Amino acid sequence: DDAVRWLLGDQLNPDLDALGDADEVLLIEAHGFADRKPYHAHKLTLVFSAMRHFREELRERGHDVTYLRADSFGEGLDEFLADRPGADLRLMRPASHGAGDRLRELVAARGGSLELSDNELFWTTPDDWREWAGEEGTAIGDDGTAARTVRQEHWYRHVRRETGVLMDGDEPVGGEWNYDDLNRETPPDGWEPPERPRFDPDELTRETHAWVTDRFDTWGDDSLDRFAWPVTREEAREALDRFVRDGLPAFGRYQDAMVGGEPFLSHSLLSPAINLGLLDPREVVRAVEAAYEERGAEPGAYEPAERGETDAGATSLDDFGGDGDGDDDPGANDAGDDEPATDDSASDDPAPVPLNAAEGFVRQVIGWREFVRHVYREAMPELAAANRLDQDRDLPPAYWDGDTDMQCLAEAVGHVREYGYAHHIERLMVLSNVALLYGADPADVNEWFHLGFVDAYHWVTTPNVVAMGSFGTDVLSSKPYAASGSYVNRMSDHCADCRYAVSRTTGEGACPLNALYWDFLKENEETLRGTGRMGLMYSHLDDKGDSELAAIRDRATAVRELAAEGEL
Ligand code: FAD
Repeated sequence: DDAVRWLLGDQLNPDLDALGDADEVLLIEAHGFADRKPYHAHKLTLVFSAMRHFREELRERGHDVTYLRADSFGEGLDEFLADRPGADLRLMRPASHGAGDRLRELVAARGGSLELSDNELFWTTPDDWREWAGEEGTAIGDDGTAARTVRQEHWYRHVRRETGVLMDGDEPVGGEWNYDDLNRETPPDGWEPPERPRFDPDELTRETHAWVTDRFDTWGDDSLDRFAWPVTREEAREALDRFVRDGLPAFGRYQDAMVGGEPFLSHSLLSPAINLGLLDPREVVRAVEAAYEERGAEPGAYEPAERGETDAGATSLDDFGGDGDGDDDPGANDAGDDEPATDDSASDDPAPVPLNAAEGFVRQVIGWREFVRHVYREAMPELAAANRLDQDRDLPPAYWDGDTDMQCLAEAVGHVREYGYAHHIERLMVLSNVALLYGADPADVNEWFHLGFVDAYHWVTTPNVVAMGSFGTDVLSSKPYAASGSYVNRMSDHCADCRYAVSRTTGEGACPLNALYWDFLKENEETLRGTGRMGLMYSHLDDKGDSELAAIRDRATAVRELAAEGEL
């Protein structure tokens, strides 16, 4: 057929069914959005460079590409439709709320037509979700309370069954759905993470970057020295191969760990490529599954070069944010720690892939990524403004300049400034946790994440930041992911180097997270005491006497003032 295929800047995949053998392809590089916020220079460089590389690739494949630069989509469409009155356009449904309808109107107002198809760059469809979730929906009310709380773990198992990923007939491979209890260790001293794959900026990326830094007011490191993200499909495939070869073996085990000076650890660093469309989530998951088939090992079988301090009693993230009924517990798992060490030093063969690594990874993609996308679709537009705890403070200046003596926050903000990246636990348990306990407005926090991260798009930050991180609504967990300094201390090496004492709650020099944590519980008692699994935390609060509570309050007030002044 002769409909023009229009592809957006996060749909950059030449193998899409939606592209087919279409002759004419339209790409519009709209710049206006980047005038409105100080995005990270690497983010703008990444998006625009990937679009420009995609243009070249489509042309090499024989498509007739119209590539327009404009202030807005409307302006781009004016130009495109001026020569093609009544053209029929076809577009995969954009991931952003309301964008499909808005674009259809823009095209119609200029005399063309726009047909929307399902977005192939997600594995599951809106119909799949509806069938699983039922008709009830997950709408959010004016007070930020959701009609119901949906559980990622249940969705994840459903998608495993439907896709057959890591399934053995009707049963999960290995007998358990979830091996997260093996994924809470910290690496021993001297452990070296795999080398970060570097995709050095080529001429087109350099040119794009020069234009970006000249044209826009950006935030974060505006040099290209640390920029190493894949900008083409070929590079993205290589990044996937490298992760599967080098990163996957330790992915599970150290997934929740934070180490000073190590922004990446064994994380895949694939979200920028997946979210641009350079990688299809199916191929990412299938590659990990295939690696498990070839190199699979028992859960927990990863052995670091040297064994150091691992904290067997590490507190589960679920203890802070889990949902209450405990039925997602993977259960006792007796495999693992007694397995023989895998000796991969004798050859260049890649290390074995323990089941907890493969399972942990696929859960992030077919569980969390698909899940938050559907929650976003259903809970917008209320989700973006949800603020169940009525928090309204401005984000402290440390989020912008990284200037703070809180070692955990300085590290995490530093990673964002330098790379436009921080890994999941830094995002959740430091960057959004500090903002939550401090009392920052969830919409402001969302905006900060959106402009600062190379992988950020409205559909993915909004559920992660407003719902998961800020507890602006209980749509995806009935309990906030709030933690005091002891969590950070257990999962990182930051506290040893910090000016603040993690062992103390009150008085000058005490870890700011401690007083903020208890004060946050006290402040939000009405909403939180009765919900989720907060009972234990409130019983600890109940044990505190009046004078201790008064000292906590004083310290929390002082911490908030210092933070607001940029003096923390
Ligand atoms: P890995 O740790 O290697 O995980 C593998 C993949 O799983 C990721 O590439 C990603 O595609 C997927 N994934 C894992 N968790 C999530 C999740 N909660 N939501 C969606 N995908 C997930 N992810 C983004 O892609 N963009 C964001 O802007 C973003 N903002 C976040 C903000 C907060 C407050 C939190 C708590 C999480 C956010 N996430 C976001 C989710 C997650 O932290 C990132 O996907 C992950 O850190 C990306 O790094 P990676 O590719 O090395 O991930």
